[in-house]
Amino acid sequence: MNNIKKIGVLTSGGDAPGMNMAIRAVVNAGINAGLEVYGIYEGYKGLVEGNYKKLTMGELNEKIPYGGTTLYSARLPEFIDIEVRQKGVDNLKKAGIEAIVVIGGDGSYRGAKALSNMGIKCIGIPGTIDNDIVSTDYTIGFDTALNTAVEAIDRLRDTSNSHIRCNIVELMGRLCGDLTLHAGISTGCNIIITKETGFDKEKVIAKIKKLHDKGERYVTVAIAEKITDIHKLAKEVQVETGYKTNPIVLGHIQRGGSPSAADRVLASSMGVYAVKLILDGEEGRCVGIVNNKMTHYDINEALNLKKEINPLYKVIKELN
Ligand code: ADP
Repeated sequence: MNNIKKIGVLTSGGDAPGMNMAIRAVVNAGINAGLEVYGIYEGYKGLVEGNYKKLTMGELNEKIPYGGTTLYSARLPEFIDIEVRQKGVDNLKKAGIEAIVVIGGDGSYRGAKALSNMGIKCIGIPGTIDNDIVSTDYTIGFDTALNTAVEAIDRLRDTSNSHIRCNIVELMGRLCGDLTLHAGISTGCNIIITKETGFDKEKVIAKIKKLHDKGERYVTVAIAEKITDIHKLAKEVQVETGYKTNPIVLGHIQRGGSPSAADRVLASSMGVYAVKLILDGEEGRCVGIVNNKMTHYDINEALNLKKEINPLYKVIKELN
């Protein structure tokens, strides 16, 4: 236990559906524990500029069904500079805010650790649709983004099935292929390509050609972003296989939308747990859900954990 009276909460980096629910949980659990809770606007930018306001019990309730983040987000590359961070620390100290909950991805975690080292007690909550934080089985926003992608690919199937067509669908997840993998399995994609599977263009084209020659009317390829230019790939596939081939980039559509029930529950549990960690005197830690149990790691340790190969990659092989 400690004597902390005021805490802050911010969202940073890429937004994710469910962030509002996590903010709400921090606010309500904090106030229930007798704390004052301040919302810091636009992530570390608002911290440095002193842009925050006291939040009240239930204030976030009306934001429950909305994606995005009511505290807004921003990127502030200068936050890497200790003098810039010091401005934020001075602001917080002046306001009497001794601890903050940072909701964001791995970059935001680095900022939180750096702040913890300067005397502000920080707890990180994983908020990103990419599911690329190894210290948690699931990040807030992943489930919603997955369902959005599944709906989009299902819609493509409806229309493409009526013709003879190949769709190459690009999903988000630069460093972690989970979104592509889960969406690809959920929609029965014929080929799934991520950083983890590697990309062999000739093999992919040969496989699509084989499907064409077998008489498949519709082929879908799910591919993670930044692997290859899917517009060029689609042209080559069309020439080599005979399928009319469409490149479809789902892009930021995956980021928006009402958070799924699973994300709402996850965000609520993580927000409450983060407040408990602050009350327990923890700092420089991040929250995770591992094997269905809330847990916490040192942020540096979490950032250095190696991700094991997702066992679902074995499943795809049996499905196609
Ligand atoms: P995400 O949190 O979604 O991974 P970013 O990588 O853009 O998003 O990081 C969000 C913010 O975190 C950055 O704009 C910057 O303000 C801060 N940040 C990132 N890396 C560091 C670092 N090494 N030290 C301090 N702050 C950092």
